[in-house]
Amino acid sequence: METNTNNIHAIKPLAALHPDQALIRVYGDLNDFLPLSLRNTWFPRPCRGRETVKNLIETCGVPHPEIGALFLDGRPVDFDELVQPGVSVEAFPIGSAPETPIALRPPLTDVRFVLDAHLGRLAAYLRMLGYDCLYRNDAHDAELAQLAHAEQRILLTRDLGLLKRSIVIYGAFVREVIPARQIVEVMRRFNLAPAPTVFQRCMRCNSLTTPVSKAEIDHLLEPKTRQYFDTFRRCPACGKIYWQGSHYARMQALLECAVREGERLQAGR
Ligand SMILES: [Zn+2]
Repeated sequence: METNTNNIHAIKPLAALHPDQALIRVYGDLNDFLPLSLRNTWFPRPCRGRETVKNLIETCGVPHPEIGALFLDGRPVDFDELVQPGVSVEAFPIGSAPETPIALRPPLTDVRFVLDAHLGRLAAYLRMLGYDCLYRNDAHDAELAQLAHAEQRILLTRDLGLLKRSIVIYGAFVREVIPARQIVEVMRRFNLAPAPTVFQRCMRCNSLTTPVSKAEIDHLLEPKTRQYFDTFRRCPACGKIYWQGSHYARMQALLECAVREGERLQAGR
């Protein structure tokens, strides 16, 4: 298959390069990982022909799971291609990578996540949306990377070192720091709509909840909850009980807002 991607490449400057250098340019939100002076421009990088393009780009600051396409002198390549001195290297982000015949990773068959210890609130929101999310506030980096690799989960993190671990295949650096904005960011990044299991996953432990009769849990309810609500679900793993109270309404409003925001951003692309 021939793919014409010429129109999306920036023009390479003609200035002579030092014999031990390659010329780098990254696009879109991959620029977030570069110092200001290197953003949206070509810059030279030492290169002796023994380094893979993946390593070369990562030493510039860009974690490999964020990359959607790579080119050497305009030719699409995979992560393991060696970079020769004098060539141009271009890296495109996943969200706006041009189509090429070379896939940097196998397609994801199922959207599931594993989150680092700082993203507990985001994990709860994603579970509420119905997505399977592994999260423990005492998990170590090695464990998280291994889980992401073994179970083909998307690693969400604010730790660049963790994201650069070579066994991580799918992942994203979460830019936002406020959880209500993080959920919008992640929905947009992965084009997520609420899953069929929306509001049916335990926010505390990730298990799927099941309907339970009011009579069965009556003795566990606060008087006001007993008075105003009749429909309940219970987590079979941790026992937490859920009902459509004010918390539910607040969360629903947040998710609707996130969905709308995602659609708005999608339309504006
Ligand atoms: Zn639970």
